[in-house]
Amino acid sequence: MTAPVLSLNNGAVRYGDLTAVDGVSIDLHAGETLGLVGESGCGKSSIARAISGLAPLSAGSLLIDGQDVAAGIRADRRFLADRVQLLFQDPVASLSPRQTVGALLAEPLKIRKIFNADTWGAAVALLRDMGLGEQFLSRYPHQLSGGQARRVALARVLTAKPRIIVADEPTAGLDVSIQGDMLNLLRALRDRLGLSYLFISHNLNVVGRVTDRVAIMYLGQIVETGRTSVLFRNPAHPYTKALLSSNLTIDPQRRRERIILKGELPSPRNPPSGCRFHQRCPVAQPICAVQQPRLAPLDDGRAVACHFPLSGGSQAMTG
Ligand code: SF4
Ligand code: MG
Repeated sequence: MTAPVLSLNNGAVRYGDLTAVDGVSIDLHAGETLGLVGESGCGKSSIARAISGLAPLSAGSLLIDGQDVAAGIRADRRFLADRVQLLFQDPVASLSPRQTVGALLAEPLKIRKIFNADTWGAAVALLRDMGLGEQFLSRYPHQLSGGQARRVALARVLTAKPRIIVADEPTAGLDVSIQGDMLNLLRALRDRLGLSYLFISHNLNVVGRVTDRVAIMYLGQIVETGRTSVLFRNPAHPYTKALLSSNLTIDPQRRRERIILKGELPSPRNPPSGCRFHQRCPVAQPICAVQQPRLAPLDDGRAVACHFPLSGGSQAMTG
C-alpha cells in the first residue's frame, strides 16, 4: 500500500486537566474515506481540530504527505491549510453573515491566487459543481436552506484545493433525502478530485454507507478499527457491538441481541481505571478494572482494544 497522506501517531489533545484525546493513531490513504465514530464528548471534534491545525496537539506527531506538522509553526500551518480543510459541523455559523456567497467564495480564491485569471468565474464554476446556480452568488447565508449552506461551505473549503477534508457531522440536521444528496456529492467529489475524507459522525447508517474503514472511539481512545464492512457485520469490541445493536436499520431483523449499556458515559476528566469501558461492559471480568487493554491486531486486518474480544471477531494474534 502507498504511504498514507495523513498519519496521526499517538496524538493527544489536552485542555487543562482534561485529556480529550489520548494516544490516538490514524492513517488515511489517498482516495479513502475513514469514519470516526463515537458518542458526543468522545474526542472526535478535538481530533478534527488538531488534524486541521486549529488546535495544537499536546503530544504525538502528525504527518501530512510525510512532513511532520505537529509543531504548529507558521510555515507548517500554511502547509497544512493547503492540504487539509475542515468542513465545520455548523455550516451557517462558519459563514460570515454579512458576506454574500460570491464574496465568501471570491475572498479565499483571491488570497490563494489559485484561480487568478477569473475569480468570479471560478466561484461560479465551484457553485455549479455543488449543484447551485449563479443566482446564489448574491445571496446571504441566512437566505440559504440547510442543504444549500452546506454546499456553499463545501465550495469554500474546495477553494483551498485540499487533498484531505475533515468533515464533522456533514449531514447532521438535514432531511434524509437531502442527506443522501450531500453524501452522493461528497463521494463524486472524492472520486473526481482524488480527495480523502476523515468522516466524523455518530450516525451509523451514514457511516456504513460512505466509509471504507472506521475507527470507533470511547472516552478519547480508539477501541476498534478496521474495514467498515467487517466491523459492522462482526464487531469484536463490546462497545462497537452495543452501538450497532441499538441501530434498527443496520440490524433490521434483530439478529443481534440488543445490548443496553449500563450507566452514563463517565467524565473524561476522571476516566475509569483499566479498560475505560469496564463499568458499562456486559462481559467485563475482574482484570478489566485494573489492566488497560492495548489496541491489538486481529488476523482479519482490524485492531481491537479488549481483553476478551467477542467470539464473533477472529482470534487475537499472539506475539
Ligand atoms: Fe469489556 Fe473487559 Fe473488553 Fe473492556 S477489556 S471491553 S471491560 S471485556
Ligand atoms: Mg462534535
